[in-house]
Amino acid sequence: MPNMSEKEILYFLESKDANDLIYLINKAGRVREKNIGNVVYARGLIEFSNICSKDCFYCGLRRSNRKVNRYHLSKDEILLLANTAYKNGFHSIALQSGEIPTESEVDFLADVIYEIKKTTSQNNDPGLGITLSIGELTFSQYKKLYDAGAHRYLLRIETSNPDLFARMHPPEQSFQKRLECLYALKEIGYQVGTGVMIGLPHQSYENLACDLKFFLDFDIDMLGMGPYIPHPDTPLAQESKIKIDPYISTVKMISLARILMPDINIVASTALQTIHPEGLKMGLKAGANIVMPVLTPEERREDYSLYTGKKYTPFNDLFNQIQKAGFEIVLWKWGDPPHWYKRHNLTYIPK
Ligand code: SF4
Repeated sequence: MPNMSEKEILYFLESKDANDLIYLINKAGRVREKNIGNVVYARGLIEFSNICSKDCFYCGLRRSNRKVNRYHLSKDEILLLANTAYKNGFHSIALQSGEIPTESEVDFLADVIYEIKKTTSQNNDPGLGITLSIGELTFSQYKKLYDAGAHRYLLRIETSNPDLFARMHPPEQSFQKRLECLYALKEIGYQVGTGVMIGLPHQSYENLACDLKFFLDFDIDMLGMGPYIPHPDTPLAQESKIKIDPYISTVKMISLARILMPDINIVASTALQTIHPEGLKMGLKAGANIVMPVLTPEERREDYSLYTGKKYTPFNDLFNQIQKAGFEIVLWKWGDPPHWYKRHNLTYIPK
């Protein structure tokens, strides 16, 4: 691996020495400063549906969880949220939902995306940048959404270890299929993001080191990693073999990712902010440069429960915390990952 050997990576992941953690964060901070500066971009997160056809063992939205009050926002509701985001200076939104891989759902979303682009693009303004996070679809479905105007896609691999993946998912959900989806997204031209959960039952530091290698080998543009926070209504919450600290290990993983991949976008996830009061600050200091303030209507937020106790920070508080941590929140810009431009031999012009 560049910048750091595999042995060093494992050393830092395993170390209990606070000085090693400080060293790692400081090193990542210098890499960040040199490559992307102290800026933080916001993606307004719209969780437009909690309906899901999948049954991931760790997720509160899994189809077998009968306690969930299912919802799906209408086209008008999504457009209103997107336009409000745009008027408030968020130049990017993320549309997220459970997995609904039907043609009618994809057509619905393509129509929504097309409409958002149409209403927000004018003259030289490219309008809202749209990130999707809606799971595994077919190549042609991904292409339809890309052609409608979405240009980033987040699909977390959750772990790069196939055996661990199999412990977290029912047999019909395969690691291979997830990989194929990631390659399809890349081939189509999306800015592709993935990520893992940290602190899972049976997960080892070696697994985390392999995750970093996976990100490098796949040549990702964006990364979203979060600590594993159990949801009581899921099978994985019954497992107790957790060997690693989810909070500190997430901070370390962000630092290592920034050192190894200087020009990608890295999210300071809501899960990181939920698990520790200093999660946001530590995530940013460790090298994260993206936050995802939640725009989902308040009356629906309780129903979008991937894990327990999800934290919702009002924009002003979030922006104050970012500034207090020494970073500058940037509005009216897409904030694309410079790495995608490098991959395509294009000059990176922030827009
Ligand atoms: S992680 Fe995603 S695909 Fe899996 S059950 Fe939850 S919402 Fe559905």
